[in-house]
Amino acid sequence: DEVIHVIGAGLAGCEAAWQIARQGIKVRLFEMKPHKKTPAHHSDTYAELVCSNSLRSDRLENAVGLLKEELRLLGSLIMHCADKTRVPAGGALAVDRHGFSRMVTEAIESHPLIEVIHEEVTSLSHDNITVVATGPLTSEPLAQIIRQMLGMESLFFFDAAAPIVRADTINMDRVFRASRYGRGDADYINCPMTQEEYLAFYDALIHAETVELKDFEDDRIFEGCMPIESMAKRGLDTMRFGPLKPVGLIDPRTGREPWAVVQLRQDNAAGSLYNMVGFQTRLKWGEQKRVFSMIPGLENAEFERYGVMHRNTFIHSPKHLDAAYRLKSRPNIFFAGQITGVEGYIESTASGMVAGLNAARQLKGLKDLIFPACTAIGALAHYVSNPANTHFQPMNATFGIMEPLGTRMRDKKEKYRKMAERALGMIQEYVRLQE
Ligand code: FAD
Repeated sequence: DEVIHVIGAGLAGCEAAWQIARQGIKVRLFEMKPHKKTPAHHSDTYAELVCSNSLRSDRLENAVGLLKEELRLLGSLIMHCADKTRVPAGGALAVDRHGFSRMVTEAIESHPLIEVIHEEVTSLSHDNITVVATGPLTSEPLAQIIRQMLGMESLFFFDAAAPIVRADTINMDRVFRASRYGRGDADYINCPMTQEEYLAFYDALIHAETVELKDFEDDRIFEGCMPIESMAKRGLDTMRFGPLKPVGLIDPRTGREPWAVVQLRQDNAAGSLYNMVGFQTRLKWGEQKRVFSMIPGLENAEFERYGVMHRNTFIHSPKHLDAAYRLKSRPNIFFAGQITGVEGYIESTASGMVAGLNAARQLKGLKDLIFPACTAIGALAHYVSNPANTHFQPMNATFGIMEPLGTRMRDKKEKYRKMAERALGMIQEYVRLQE
């Protein structure tokens, strides 16, 4: 069959489908929405951002910023739509989540080579090359098939999403607009806390009731998405060195840095919604209302969405995948996205790009396209498929997993800039050869 199947129209699946279609190959994209939704998905559109609307840094000295630029050069659909729907967020690329998701959906649905089938996939085709991109919340019947296929070491951990508040319910008399160190155009709403307010908040937070989770183990909490109450329990000041860090934020009413600051980030283009930065949580909803209302400015805040906590599935990729994200034991199956153990929206997109390009090449009988480890996109693929990674944990794009420069450099920023230049040079060369 000359059609490639992609399962899951998330960030990875949409990117994979788009790249396959760009190679002139037909795609059947399976998505269980709107009939069935995971606990973290709410909208009917594709490439839904389940938590933060920030795609993180857009600077080249930051590995995820570099990865974005690489994806742009490679013709990424996700990056194109993100750039078109961006909202102000200092040095980060944040998007209007609904506008972004709608734009991706329209592009996918109007592509003549992509057919979307709205159904839950519960088995894997033997006839078609297939890209499995069902995400960290892969529906249970398919998760079971994958476990049967790969053995029980298919893993999971828990992940959380932060609450979103309605802008018109924030008490603007108590907060101030600013970006840290004055970068950007005062994009964040900052809720300043005095020491007394912080202590009262801290005390309420660590004693608040949380949702019980079956087989929940504390050490499985992923550091990058740690619930705020778990962080608080590590120590009185841990939050003040984390998301509540006041450094570089001057309250214009006092002319000084507050004791602690809760930051709210614009969540939609209209600016009517703001999410609480770093406030992923598993507090019960009533407790979220009670405890978060103690934050200055949020006394009467109404919540558009409360924070939630979820299971997060990923396979043991170093054992099962090659650097094209292909299953070694069944070479007509590729995996892409968070389920491969890459961590984050853009990382998921990047793996969708690589898996999609290679699925298309396989169908055409072409050699694999493996990006070198001195690019961010290549380094991720090498990392997740490196059999030496026996204690595999989900991975963000970082300079640490990229090939070093070979020359010692004291200035980290300068080093990263050089590494970024080298990576972009390689990607540009690849793109030029394609033309
Ligand atoms: P998804 O975007 O989840 O897409 C998977 C798609 O597959 C979904 O549309 C789903 O409906 C569909 N699907 C599932 N099973 C089936 C089936 N059997 N048949 C058909 N369709 C199916 N990353 C960040 O960078 N920032 C964050 O703030 C962030 N917060 C997160 C919060 C939570 C609660 C979770 C779970 C993850 C978070 N992540 C975050 C991690 C990760 O970046 C996202 O999960 C990202 O959406 C992963 O992209 P994906 O394409 O792999 O999966």
